[in-house]
Amino acid sequence: MADRFLDVIRLVISDCLDEVTKLSESGTTGWSEAQTKILIDKLFRPLLPADIGIHSGQIGEHLTGRISPQVSIIFYDTKKLDPVFHKANSGFFPIECVLYAIHIISDFNASEVQRAHENAECINSFPYCKSPTAGVQRATILPVRNVILSMNLQSIKDNKHALLLYKGIYDDEGRSNSIQAICNLGQTYCADDGTAWMELPCKEKHDELLAFISDVIASYQAISASRIHPSLAQYLTPRIPSLSGPLTGGLRSILYACTNCKKTGYARPASSLPDITIRGTLKHTACCPKCGAAMVSAEGTYEFLRGRLITARISPSERHVGIPREPVAIPLPSYLTQILQRGP
Ligand SMILES: [Zn+2]
Repeated sequence: MADRFLDVIRLVISDCLDEVTKLSESGTTGWSEAQTKILIDKLFRPLLPADIGIHSGQIGEHLTGRISPQVSIIFYDTKKLDPVFHKANSGFFPIECVLYAIHIISDFNASEVQRAHENAECINSFPYCKSPTAGVQRATILPVRNVILSMNLQSIKDNKHALLLYKGIYDDEGRSNSIQAICNLGQTYCADDGTAWMELPCKEKHDELLAFISDVIASYQAISASRIHPSLAQYLTPRIPSLSGPLTGGLRSILYACTNCKKTGYARPASSLPDITIRGTLKHTACCPKCGAAMVSAEGTYEFLRGRLITARISPSERHVGIPREPVAIPLPSYLTQILQRGP
């Protein structure tokens, strides 16, 4: 039964590869976008689970806004990608949603492998947003898996030394591999098991692609789960510094003074009891930054509503110590002042 099932899958792969080969015989040299599209539509879409999204595009990160070079095929997590990214249809994928990056090369040679290795290194250097609902540490996040898919259609060359060729590239740089798997059409499927490369030579037709697809299906859920619930809001926030405005909701800052060295500072008091009026002094939760003594407000009457200070009446004799502070104008950064002076 299992073998009959595999025969059906092998037929799906054969049909797809026939179509891809036909396109390369019709004149174009190298690998084309049209061929990538056939692989997506006729091979990966029918064979991979529906919650894996498949698209060509670029991968981005939220922290500095870096974007990867074009990636032939991206497998992404449809459950984590917010609809706004689909709607834009920009081919842009936040790294937090990306499960696999497939780097297609048309020939397994040093320069093509080097290029895929460098693109994978770029993707591997991207930071991931932490989940706002869990204290996810960087170490627990399973990163994007980078795979070389070598489509040597013209001639099935003897690629016995593919791994040695790739090892030569990263060893030369004194680095480790940025690629985690190599699927070499008609030859082998190789994967990094965390310690060493494991190699599966082709025995039957399309064994290498079957091994690759089964590896994706076996691993994608763990990669997805490790990302928990990344917040992608940061990708949509305009990259401009925010300015402070007037205080909101009647919240006031009051002056605290050190009971020892008399150092003063403004702070916004909050009460853990929602509605309360306090007659006396308020003590700041932090100590004096200079000498470590308590910081207290002037004697007065402080009225809190829903935990926020709404009025503060300071005893007349103490007015010199603590005067409730009205909302203050925030000085504008110089570049903005210049723009305002110049007018629109
Ligand atoms: Zn002090």
